[in-house]
Amino acid sequence: MAALYRGRHRWKRINCLHIFSRKLTGENDYDLLVIGGGSGGLACSKEGEVLSLLFLNFSRGIFEEPANNMITFLLWLVYSITPGVFSRPTMAEAVQNHVKSLNWGHRVQLQDNKGHSESLLTNIVIATGGRPKYPTNIPGAAEHGITSDDIFWLKKSPGKTLVVGASYVALECAGFLKGIGLDTTVMVRSIALRGFDQQMAGLVTDYMEAHGTRFAWKSVPNRVDKLSSGALQVTWTDTQTGSEHKDTFDSVLWAVGRAPETKALGLDKLGVQLNKETGKIVIGPDESTSVPNIYAFGDIGEGRPELTPTAIKAGKLLARRLTGQSTELMNYDNVPTTVFTPLEYSCVGLSEEEAEKRHGKDGIEIYHAFYKPLEFTVAERDASQCYIKVVCEQGGTGKILGLHFTGPNAGEVAQGFAVGFQ
Ligand code: NAP
Repeated sequence: MAALYRGRHRWKRINCLHIFSRKLTGENDYDLLVIGGGSGGLACSKEGEVLSLLFLNFSRGIFEEPANNMITFLLWLVYSITPGVFSRPTMAEAVQNHVKSLNWGHRVQLQDNKGHSESLLTNIVIATGGRPKYPTNIPGAAEHGITSDDIFWLKKSPGKTLVVGASYVALECAGFLKGIGLDTTVMVRSIALRGFDQQMAGLVTDYMEAHGTRFAWKSVPNRVDKLSSGALQVTWTDTQTGSEHKDTFDSVLWAVGRAPETKALGLDKLGVQLNKETGKIVIGPDESTSVPNIYAFGDIGEGRPELTPTAIKAGKLLARRLTGQSTELMNYDNVPTTVFTPLEYSCVGLSEEEAEKRHGKDGIEIYHAFYKPLEFTVAERDASQCYIKVVCEQGGTGKILGLHFTGPNAGEVAQGFAVGFQ
């Protein structure tokens, strides 16, 4: 595979992928070939270079900043603007410039490092991540809808928006769309933030509702039609009552999950085992696939958390292991995570529901408190949803199983506690 891409500093387009290839020693061998230019792939490539590996990095032409990082950045931008002076074109330009600056930085870092290697062994690392998906069974969904990938590149305001889905991406997008003053509705077919502590999820959505985001609970979309006015008419069913509803929106944003980018790679021809249901690559604790010398990590790996920092760390550790510099494996236990909703929610460890499932209702003990953040006091902001909950084992050492926090800068707060979980 590497032999296909010999030559110095050149770009090629093959199978819709731009290929950035570099040959540093004059030999025709590559020690590490990284497919995917997301955060994880870049981290692996850069670490590989630091450790004197040659690399090929396949990407889509620009290095991709994952949607969730951009959402965080945009949220920061939205929440730090002075009310009344917000300008959408300025925001869009700021986001685009930020992405371009990141891409430039990555390119410079990748090109400036000097790598040398004696090794002739070729390892292939797949870090192609996933892409937002559209539902396939809803007429007009893909034709008229957008996803979180598009939101930063729209030429005009999305206007009145329906966000379909109720997980990270949906709630974060709805949070910042409402934050910039748009009429925003979230359509939830079952529960919000599946897999998270449901009491905490309730606080997050209560806060959003109290600040003007509408929720269509227990509702499933049936079709999207474009009217002659250009407005999008969405028809949906309230599954509790069975009644059908219609409303018009300027944009319909699908946040119904992400699909792994494995199809175009022809992995079946190599015999790389995929999970048939999810399409993700089956990998071991050392990120190895079913084929020797082919590794995969990040969102593309079955059962791995779809989180940028986790992919970055896993990519770095993999590069170190492949060069024999280290044997350290990635620790996927107790990874903290933050939902960047208008009221942030961060957690580490088990939800109350999961702790109850594993230890029994009588086997756990909950410590909790509503609190008022100092910054809410002078501004007299409502702190009804600011809450901390610690889930512990009952008796014995009272081991902490999970920690959950809603409030300003929750992500920063939880990071410190997360260290104690390791
Ligand atoms: P997700 O976690 O897979 O959630 C998909 C959501 O869409 C669920 O609420 C699901 O409802 C709903 N849904 C699926 N199909 C639907 C349909 N046909 N009609 C209506 N609703 C439908 O996907 P995501 O929110 O896009 O996030 C993707 C991944 O990115 C996540 O695993 C997350 O780890 C990561 N992420 C992380 C961050 C962060 O760290 N801050 C931010 C963004 C994304 P049900 O619950 O009923 O299935």
